[in-house]
Amino acid sequence: MISNDNQLAVTILGSGTCVPSLKRSSCSVLMRTGDTILLFDSGAGTMRRLLEAGVEVYDVSFVFYSHFHPDHTGELVPFLFSNKYPDGSRRKKPLTLVAGKGFLKFYENLKFVYGHWIELGPGLSNIVELDNANYDMRRFDDFKVESLPMEHNPESIAYRITGPGGESVVFSGDTDFSENLVVLSKDADLLICESALPDGLKVNGHLTPSLAGEIARRANVRKLVLTHFYPECDRADIEKECRKSYTGPLILAEDLMKIEI
Ligand SMILES: [Zn+2]
Ligand SMILES: [Zn+2]
Repeated sequence: MISNDNQLAVTILGSGTCVPSLKRSSCSVLMRTGDTILLFDSGAGTMRRLLEAGVEVYDVSFVFYSHFHPDHTGELVPFLFSNKYPDGSRRKKPLTLVAGKGFLKFYENLKFVYGHWIELGPGLSNIVELDNANYDMRRFDDFKVESLPMEHNPESIAYRITGPGGESVVFSGDTDFSENLVVLSKDADLLICESALPDGLKVNGHLTPSLAGEIARRANVRKLVLTHFYPECDRADIEKECRKSYTGPLILAEDLMKIEI
């Protein structure tokens, strides 16, 4: 992966869902700011896509979780276990896991099952729980993280990352239509937004292309990336549906796609 110092660089790792697909891995997004590597969600296939993007598991410093559904968290356990190979010494940087309230319990339950197999060495892991009911903001290294609750699961939050140059990227995770997502995305350089199913197949808890477009238009984002596509999306004209509500720069995510900010 090309290093782009002091600017957020974004690569879509998985543009899919829980549905097995050779084309679309489960949800994951890679970001880099300076030397710091961030992951957003880690569904099945994430580690393979990471390798394809030229990143080793040991080099990831942060994993942010939008919520706990398996298509977003499924590869957390294999990810932690892989960091212990061959003797845990290849990870030099601490790993920080960030998620909405409830994640500590989620992690403790995983530890109840997997025990020391998923525990990194002393000082090598931290967990940060963000408020899942209100706005939250934290600063890490050279970037800022803001979050707001989404309309999906009780723990669901979306993230806005602001890099050292002031550039901003929003990651929606899964959500239904959300005024909070409009607020969090206000004037962002990039909105990576779920668009799970075509307009005619809307389900509770998820967006469609035209609803994602409406959020992007109202938030005045500079660029919109649609992702989290169920197979039905690959049989519909997603771009045309999104264009009903949004006329700005639009990208339909594919695995390993690099996104310019
Ligand atoms: Zn999902
Ligand atoms: Zn979900």
